[in-house]
Amino acid sequence: MVKLDRLLVIDIEATCWKKSPPPEQENEIIEVGIATIDLTTKIIEEKVSILVKPQCSTVSTFCTDLTTLTQDRVDAGVSFADACLRLRKEYLSEKRVWASYGDYDRRMFEKQCKARGIRYPFGVRHLNVKTLFAIARGLPREVGMARALEMLDLPLEGTHHRGHDDAWNIAKILLKLI
Ligand code: AMP
Ligand code: MG
Repeated sequence: MVKLDRLLVIDIEATCWKKSPPPEQENEIIEVGIATIDLTTKIIEEKVSILVKPQCSTVSTFCTDLTTLTQDRVDAGVSFADACLRLRKEYLSEKRVWASYGDYDRRMFEKQCKARGIRYPFGVRHLNVKTLFAIARGLPREVGMARALEMLDLPLEGTHHRGHDDAWNIAKILLKLI
């Protein structure tokens, strides 16, 4: 049964390049950002960054410029399998509703879990905040996170393109909607 005590907002960062990945490399999760919302008090309780060491790609200068994450920092991170285990054990991610901005984060988790034979850490209850925001506002099309914050007169707190800060900001947007 779904647990409605807390909602998990998730935002991942991944290795990236200006165009397509170089030969033998692929986009890979390097950070799982989590912000938890207490659904009784409607308060954002915490934000957490889990850095993940990539297995088959490296952090390009482009990626560092975008995310501020460096190879050294993610090398000190945990394995993707351990990050998924932590989500399941510490955050009961399989039982709780989770949300992300758009479908990218969900698809990356699905792809990486499938490719590596790792248990998918989430249940089926995913909220796409990007779609919800556009529908709630009656917009003709979906907008990015920064634009949604602007439209709500909310500041973009922390560093854009860091998982935990993005998750925090997405949680603020979701709170306005619920
Ligand atoms: P975000 O949650 O917007 O920070 O984006 C998540 C991930 O998408 C980033 O860590 C990158 O891997 C990728 N990404 C976002 N924006 C770009 C971009 N302009 N060019 C290439 N990759 C990007
Ligand atoms: Mg992000």
